[in-house]
Amino acid sequence: AKEAGRSDYRFFTADLNARALERLSFEGGLRAALEHGEFVLHYQPQVAIADGELIGFEALVRWQHPQLGLVPPNRFIPIAEDSGLIVALGEWVIEAACRQNRDWQRQGLPHVPIAVNLSAVQFRHRALLATVAGALAESGLAADCLELELTESILMQADRVTLDTVSYLKELGVQLSIDDFGTGYSSLGYLKRFPVDKLKIDQSFVRGLDAADDVIVTTIIGLAHNLGLGVIAEGVETAEQARLLLELGCGEAQGYHFGRPLPATEARGVLLHENER
Ligand code: C2E
Ligand code: CA
Ligand code: CA
Ligand code: CA
Repeated sequence: AKEAGRSDYRFFTADLNARALERLSFEGGLRAALEHGEFVLHYQPQVAIADGELIGFEALVRWQHPQLGLVPPNRFIPIAEDSGLIVALGEWVIEAACRQNRDWQRQGLPHVPIAVNLSAVQFRHRALLATVAGALAESGLAADCLELELTESILMQADRVTLDTVSYLKELGVQLSIDDFGTGYSSLGYLKRFPVDKLKIDQSFVRGLDAADDVIVTTIIGLAHNLGLGVIAEGVETAEQARLLLELGCGEAQGYHFGRPLPATEARGVLLHENER
């Protein structure tokens, strides 16, 4: 047992060192990567469960690293948040998603909203409103084809800045949803304060869904309905989960069962197919 303990410790420190090294090299590399155009967006379909109709996409950023290949966001977003680069990276994400959506619309493909994730750092930065308004103006995209995903931690700060920012975003006409709903704080007061449109049921609740008496999922769906909000389930991986969600009154879903995040060319294929339905 002692031996095992010691080698665990060695693995642990080796892992820590590797991660510390990665962090150091990423810190320096992220800004250059942005300048060199190494970030790409993948698009995950959001569908109506009943008939599979495409109702939108969520844009998810990846780093196309010259040596490491495709790096997932969990490995660099926290670092970008610490260094402040998230503001410039987040601006690129908003602009790229708006441009891509407008390009598809100009090609005669169906008009669906694309949802973009906002980090708290980005939300509290004074450039946010100008960035969103600018991305819409430059691309010519209708505001309701852009959805912004906020987290509960953003909305927990019920100060003037937060209230004003959310109201102004709403005035611009963009759609607002609350990501990872149910995982953050237990105070639901903010739901009444902010003009949001939709709750995204976190995948941790969907994963455990195996009967129609699931208290948490039922409660979130009821809450959304009672407040007049939309509701979409994330991380739906099986037909059974989809069936239960529909039975519980949640008509919209996103997850591997319906489609993985796709590079733009493949997402375009999904839109084309939608046009032919
Ligand atoms: P998220 O916003 O909760 O995004 C959903 C994550 O779940 C994505 O991981 C997606 O690929 C994954 N996913 C989708 N369907 C399923 C499923 O059926 N099963 C499972 N197990 N997973 C599924 P991804 O792309 O690695 O993104 C991770 C997180 O990184 C996102 O979580 C989001 O918080 C953050 N992120 C991604 N893109 C951006 C961005 O542009 N800006 C910011 N600030 N954060 C981003
Ligand atoms: Ca999200
Ligand atoms: Ca989520
Ligand atoms: Ca998340």
